[in-house]
Amino acid sequence: MKCTVCRGPAVIDVRRHNANFCAEHFAKHCREQVGRAIHQFDMVHPGERVLVAVSGGKDSLALWDILLDLGYHADGFYIGLGIGEYSDESGSYARAFAERRGATLVEADLPGDFGFDVPTGSLAARRAPCSACGLSKRHLFDRAAIDGGYDVVATGHNLDDEAAVLFGNVLRWSTDYLGRQHPVLPEGHGFPRKVKPLVRLGEREMAAYCVIRGIDYIVEECPMAAGNRHLGYKEVLNEVEAQSPGTKNAFYFGFLERASHLFTPEAEAEQLELRPCERCGAPTPNDVCAFCMLVERAARR
Ligand code: SF4
Ligand SMILES: [Zn+2]
Ligand SMILES: [Zn+2]
Repeated sequence: MKCTVCRGPAVIDVRRHNANFCAEHFAKHCREQVGRAIHQFDMVHPGERVLVAVSGGKDSLALWDILLDLGYHADGFYIGLGIGEYSDESGSYARAFAERRGATLVEADLPGDFGFDVPTGSLAARRAPCSACGLSKRHLFDRAAIDGGYDVVATGHNLDDEAAVLFGNVLRWSTDYLGRQHPVLPEGHGFPRKVKPLVRLGEREMAAYCVIRGIDYIVEECPMAAGNRHLGYKEVLNEVEAQSPGTKNAFYFGFLERASHLFTPEAEAEQLELRPCERCGAPTPNDVCAFCMLVERAARR
């Protein structure tokens, strides 16, 4: 197998692009794909400060690495979720990366700052762990970005993630979620802009990128993810992709080109109904936001 660019020995094939790459040209390919996504969807403008949501996993660390290499002012933001050893370990990968790259890592800690961890919050709110966790993460990312004066929050969702979420939303015709499934959500109504610069890269590519670049990341899945519906959707899509490479890409980008605009008015109308939370000021459709309710329920427990 030879590198499509330089004819040297290739280390990875990317069937979707019908290409093979050596280590050097693969890293370049990843940077180019991120650069193209940023440009194509107008994600980050020159001089803007980016806050990268870092979990200690391959995607977010690869994203941070690429943004730094592309010359962006990108700081990391890590949240301790209190998920036992998984959180301890993932935090140390995020810190080690920041130290190695001389980059700034901002941290928040759910148990330390708010008195509950994801397992407790999930029980207290009678929500699935990933629901309580996702809600907390979104709230804390938004807040950290606004408090820290960042222009944009970047997350490491890759093509596999976005295709799986889209698949789930289409299966249920969750039109409100479909309206928000764009790789850029504009700032406004009390939210910072949110972008997903890895949408042109797959999960396997991100793992390979980390290996090639010598980035250590947490390999284990979060123990709370078991039974998570998205994992099942990913498996289904992987089977389809193995039969016909490029399907995930066509599914996701076809949606963005041809259908996503049909659902945005509903999502925008929902935003207009938001007002500041009585307790923390975050935008919410109710008097008190879902995160403050979660904090209160967890404290009662
Ligand atoms: S798998 Fe669920 S609980 Fe674990 S970090 Fe992800 S969203 Fe949170
Ligand atoms: Zn090459
Ligand atoms: Zn609140």
